[in-house]
Formats: sequence, structure tokens, C-alpha cells
Amino acid sequence: MLKGKVALVTGAARGIGRAICENFADCGADIAFFYASNDSAAEECKASVEARGVKCRAYKCDVSDYHAVEEAFKSVVTEFGTVDILVNNAGITRDRLVLAMKEQDFDDVIAVNLKGAFNLIKQVYPVLARKRSGRIINISSVAGLCGNPGQLNYSASKAGLIAMTKTVAKELAARGVTCNAIAPGFVETDMTKDIAQSAPLADAIPMNRFAKPEEIAALASFLASDRAAYITGEVIRCDGGLAM
Ligand code: NAP
Repeated sequence: MLKGKVALVTGAARGIGRAICENFADCGADIAFFYASNDSAAEECKASVEARGVKCRAYKCDVSDYHAVEEAFKSVVTEFGTVDILVNNAGITRDRLVLAMKEQDFDDVIAVNLKGAFNLIKQVYPVLARKRSGRIINISSVAGLCGNPGQLNYSASKAGLIAMTKTVAKELAARGVTCNAIAPGFVETDMTKDIAQSAPLADAIPMNRFAKPEEIAALASFLASDRAAYITGEVIRCDGGLAM
């Protein structure tokens, strides 16, 4: 489905990002991925992707740093020749009720989740526009659709990502480039391991369980493929019915 394509996935050493890299690799894509600091997780992800018979490079790059992204993106293009698919997946949480939320909590989350996506889109936009084809997939959240107590910063970043998705989709549609968002509910990753242990959240989900990262990745692979050529500006929930 993705043979001959080069995919760049951010925040991909662990969790949903890693599952997306593996699923894309299963579909034949070569993979470049960015991670923040966890070198051993990045090594494991790279090995797992390479074992699927495709090329893979890991780049330690903080997506919130515009100039670092610019440099890392140049390295990706030098190494792979181009980029066909961008997945903005890197994300963090700093959860607190508004009363306790610090300015830094707000700034950190917006810098990674929202500005980080802008930084990557700035780089890939001219490449895809010139090629007159390509895919941008932004990993949002149901929190960006519905809001969530304790997540003012995170919800705002994910809602902003949806607005960015629709704007990029409108700007690039005529060039054959699609831009879509995936809005997961709860997914079994490091990000939710504390929540999963402390609250019976699954009861609130019609399907009564968290998603597996692979279930988000399968949707990303579909959106990245030629089969999804006429879908753009869309936000697809993958949440077991949570935000229905
Ligand atoms: P995770 O398990 O916490 O993994 C996050 C990944 O992002 C890690 O690889 C981390 O790198 C990387 N990262 C963090 N900050 C970064 C930065 N500044 N620059 C580059 N990479 C950075 O997260 P996840 O649960 O897989 O979530 C992935 C995405 O899905 C996020 O955008 C999240 O908001 C969204 N999402 C998750 C859920 C959920 O329930 N898990 C639900 C809805 C949406 P290191 O490994 O080096 O730390």
C-alpha cells in the first residue's frame, strides 16, 4: 500500500508513533522518525522497523524547536531523497485543573503539540506542493473535540491541530495533497498508564476498553494510502465510541 513512499513520523520511539512506523513499514514505506530523548526506545523502534525489510533512520529532534526541526528535516531529505507522508504524532500532557495549571504547563503543551506540528508542516509543505502529491496526518484527540477536565492546555492544542488540519487541507487540496486528523480516545500507551490504573475509565467507553496503538496505526496507514485520495480536511475519531 505504501511501497516506494518515504514517511516521516514524529514522537515515534514509543506508543502510537512506534505502531505507526511499524504499520507503515509493513505496508512497504521507508521510515524516518523523530523522538525527544529516549535513545534505547528509539533503537528498539528502529530495529523493529528494519526487521520489516525497509530503510529506517531515527533523529533525536525536539519538534518544538523550529531550527532543530529545519536541520533534521534537511538531513531526512538528504538521506531519503524526499518525504511523501508526514505524521505529526509527538505530544505531551501536563494535566491539572485550571486553578492549579501553571503558565509553564500551558506553554510546554502548546509548544510541542501545536507549534511542533506547525514546525513540521512548514518544512514538508513546499516539498509536497511541488510533488503535487502527499499526505499529512495529524494525531489530535477527542479532548480537542469535547474538552476534558484537567486538560485545558492539551484540549486547546488538539483543537488547534484540527483547525490547522482543515486549513492545510484547503490550501493544498488542489495540489493533490491531503491533510487529515485522527482523534483517538484512550489508547494503551505510556501516556495513559497512570490513568488506566487509577480510574475505571473503560466503563465510559461504549466498547469498554482502551484502543491498542496498532488500531490507531491501521487508520493512519489507510489515510496515507492511495485509497484515501479523496478524503481531506477530515477528523476521524478512533475512540471505541467514547465521543459519539
Ligand atoms: P507516548 O507513549 O507518551 O509517546 C510520546 C512520544 O513522543 C515519545 O516517543 C516521545 O519521545 C515523543 N516526544 C515527546 N515530546 C517530544 C518532542 N518535544 N519532540 C519529539 N518527540 C517528542 O504518547 P502516545 O500515547 O503514543 O501519544 C502519541 C500521540 O497521540 C500524542 O500526540 C497524543 O497526544 C496522542 N493521543 C494519545 C492518546 C492516548 O490515550 N495515549 C489519546 C489521544 C491522543 P521519547 O520516547 O524520546 O520520550
